[in-house]
Amino acid sequence: MAKYKGPVCRLCRREGEKLFLKGARCMTEKCAIERRSYPPGQHGQGRQRLSEYSAQLREKQKLRRIYGLQERQFRGVFGKAERRTGITGEHLLKLLECRLDNVVYRLGFASSRKQARQLINHGHFLLNGRKTDVPSYIVKAGDVVEVRQRSRDLASIQLALEASDGRGIPGWLEQDRAACKGTVRAVPTKQEIAIPVNEQLVVELYSR
Ligand code: SF4
Repeated sequence: MAKYKGPVCRLCRREGEKLFLKGARCMTEKCAIERRSYPPGQHGQGRQRLSEYSAQLREKQKLRRIYGLQERQFRGVFGKAERRTGITGEHLLKLLECRLDNVVYRLGFASSRKQARQLINHGHFLLNGRKTDVPSYIVKAGDVVEVRQRSRDLASIQLALEASDGRGIPGWLEQDRAACKGTVRAVPTKQEIAIPVNEQLVVELYSR
């Protein structure tokens, strides 16, 4: 699947807010949003008029970029959310939040979702005691995510753990730092998913 290989900070500038895509750098004054908080490109500093469609599109792009998915993957998750009974927007947020790469990031074992995905792909994690390399796995209540014994001293994981102190662990997850382990207490509620996105606009966009 095609990957976005362009400048990452440009994505935040396009959305006009921090999407925290670069780990520790996002907390420093080197963050591009701190320095140039206007959209990139020739007309970035001009007046922006947002039509209904572009407002919906921006919310969708923001959500997709926060979780680091390509359009096709994102449509797939949306399709799954749509097939569930209840509120599609809420299901969409829950499915994204319960992805294994997001859980690894939220537990502090990686400094960004992108890094989490890479660590999982390289086989550094166990899920319920078994090796896994599927970042898109949707965790369930009771699942245990663990750094493999031989990977516990990896500098990237240790640095991420130190940097995650300021971020905090959401209430639906439980971290056992000494054992490099985390447990999913429950599927998060919408209120527990701290994402600055109006998911209803995403649903409206795909319902056009
Ligand atoms: Fe976004 Fe982080 Fe870059 Fe800031 S440093 S613009 S938050 S990716």
